[in-house]
Amino acid sequence: MTDCLFCKIIAGQIPADKIYEDEYALAFLDIHPRAPGHVLIVPKRHMSDVTELEFAEVGQFFGTAQKIIRLLQDGLSPDGFTLGINHGKVAGQEVEHLHLHVLPRFANDGGASLQSVVHNPPAESTAEMAKKIKQAKVG
Ligand code: 5GP
Ligand code: ZN
Repeated sequence: MTDCLFCKIIAGQIPADKIYEDEYALAFLDIHPRAPGHVLIVPKRHMSDVTELEFAEVGQFFGTAQKIIRLLQDGLSPDGFTLGINHGKVAGQEVEHLHLHVLPRFANDGGASLQSVVHNPPAESTAEMAKKIKQAKVG
C-alpha cells in the first residue's frame, strides 16, 4: 500500500533497524522503544489487523514471534515478555498495518500487565456475557 509507513519500511523506502526478515514477515526495532529490544513484527503483505491474516499466515506470523522471542532472549536476557497488538484506533493503533509489539520485560522495570491497560468491567455476569458473545454471528 503506497501510503503506509510500514509498507515503506518493508520496501526499504524508509530506514529501520531490522533484526529479522523472511518471505512473509519483517521485524524491526520500534523507533520510540518502551523497553530495550522493543520489536515490531509486521506481515509483509499489507493488512490493517489480525482478522485479515489468511489461515496459513497465522502460523507464519506467530512462528516469527517465536523466533524473535528466542533472539531477544539470547541477545538481551530479559526475564519475560509482553506481547501485544493495538487493534483499532480506540485501542491505541496508530499505524494501520498489522504489527505485534514484543516488549522484553525485566525484573523491576516499572511496567505492568496487559490487563492494566483498561478497567471497564461489564455490568453483566460472565455467564451472560458468554451467552451474548456465543450468539453473535461470525461474518
Ligand atoms: P501502534 O500504536 O500503532 O500500535 O504502534 C505504532 C508503533 O510504531 C509505535 O510504537 C511507534 O513508536 C512506532 N513507529 C512509528 N513510526 C515509526 C517509524 O518510522 N519507524 C519505526 N521503527 N517505528 C515507528
Ligand atoms: Zn502497509
